Amino acid sequence: MKTPKVWFDELTMREAEQAAKNDTVIIIPVGSVEEHGIHLPLCTDSIQPEYIAQEAAKKTRTLIAPPLRYGVCNSTRNFPGTISIQFETLRSITKDVLEEFIRNGFTKFLILSGHAGQSHMAALRLAAQQVIWNHEKQKKHPRIQVCSDYDFAYELKGKHFDEKDGHAGTIETSRVKAIKPDLVKTKAQKHYPTIPRFEVLANPETYFPAGIIGDPTTATTKKGQMINKCITEQTVKLIEELRK
Ligand SMILES: [Zn+2]
Repeated sequence: MKTPKVWFDELTMREAEQAAKNDTVIIIPVGSVEEHGIHLPLCTDSIQPEYIAQEAAKKTRTLIAPPLRYGVCNSTRNFPGTISIQFETLRSITKDVLEEFIRNGFTKFLILSGHAGQSHMAALRLAAQQVIWNHEKQKKHPRIQVCSDYDFAYELKGKHFDEKDGHAGTIETSRVKAIKPDLVKTKAQKHYPTIPRFEVLANPETYFPAGIIGDPTTATTKKGQMINKCITEQTVKLIEELRK
């Protein structure tokens, strides 16, 4: 059996036209260029949702839009390597991309973000909300889901992982080990920093100078495969929901 094409921009114009007629679900992966400790690459938040999108797309015959690999990274912007964009930039490009797919006849979307910062997710949600409002009176109005694959990864905390695990910790390091092992550079130490919960900070990195929240020393490929499988299953469910 031929493996189905999953990348939207590998289609020809006629194939794209047909995909719109079929009302194919479009997954839009969103990542970031962001420090992830001394052990993980800057593309950590990009390769995770792109991997999940590919696994889910193969199972459901959906299409993946060219990924957005920049995000709003407020808490890590002062670390070397973090290239953060502004809230308004992310909101604006997300809205443009959605509107263009809609103009092409697509109506069902899943925005899947590997970066889960609050402002970042709010920009994606606001873009989706504005698009929904723009088209609410249309007979076949669009449907858009916005989530982070960490919404599902963190559901595994407690039973499988430390409640305090976070940025570049066990879960994230395990997932990258399972997806692109050659990009995991070195062994990093565990860090459980105390970061003020509500204060808006100019230099949040002073509270976690290693750029790590959690314990990368307990990360394994096997754990990563388990987490990625769980997230893929949840993503497939979201796509099935959109098709109802
Ligand atoms: Zn991350």
